[in-house]
Amino acid sequence: MKKIFIFVIVTIVTAEFSYSQVLNKNFKWPENKKAAVCLTFDDGQDSHLDEAIPLLDSFSFKATFYCPGNSESLHNRTSEWESIIENGHELGNHSLFHPCDGKIHDWVKSEYDLNIYNKEQIRMELYTANTLLKAIDGRIDRTYGYTCSNYKVQGDTSFVDVVKQLFSAARSDGPIPKTMENIDIYFMPSWSVNNNTGKELIDYVKEAREKGTIATFMFHSVGGGYLNVSTESLQELLIYLKDNEQDYWVDNFSNITKHISNQLDNTK
Ligand SMILES: [Zn+2]
Repeated sequence: MKKIFIFVIVTIVTAEFSYSQVLNKNFKWPENKKAAVCLTFDDGQDSHLDEAIPLLDSFSFKATFYCPGNSESLHNRTSEWESIIENGHELGNHSLFHPCDGKIHDWVKSEYDLNIYNKEQIRMELYTANTLLKAIDGRIDRTYGYTCSNYKVQGDTSFVDVVKQLFSAARSDGPIPKTMENIDIYFMPSWSVNNNTGKELIDYVKEAREKGTIATFMFHSVGGGYLNVSTESLQELLIYLKDNEQDYWVDNFSNITKHISNQLDNTK
């Protein structure tokens, strides 16, 4: 009886291992790592400069910061935002005025409701935000973080084609992908963290490791504020990632999506 039980367990474990291998048979992460982890921080907040970046830099982890043009922190501390790229962080586009779907979010001001935008308006806003960020960091190549993960303007019209013209990749929301085959780098899923524990953050990256795919975090406030992650929980995650760096590739969204794009091109 015991032998049968062990046989069943071994079979299940082996089957799960090979299931992930089959799903990702043409896809490889650098240095044979098992999953990628992308840490992204939204809305250009002081807590990113004061809490997140010093912590990330102490572990030598690179992240992406989706900073809208109207960020007060960007206005007041521009040279500090400029210097984040020196340690490999990405300054990502998050529009100028952070427009969102006012039917879903009641805090959206009527003039910044995506339901009154047309496609040309959002195109010019994202293009101008690229110019602003280029003036700060000198970069031409950039990724986009959909504001509120919304991708439609008036008339229920998708502006993903505009995003494809202006950016190398884009972050949306959604569950961890089951496979990297045929993944859309202009709709990369992510998880919006909201006061989660360090253990919950770690469980999320473990799920990506099991699947051989990618865990993308969408953080907002760090160390206090809306959709918060405590400095302690973030630190717990980073310690775990450092202790297990043979399994996880931690990098900014631009570098990770470039690798994905190259891998998918190679397998076509
Ligand atoms: Zn945002």
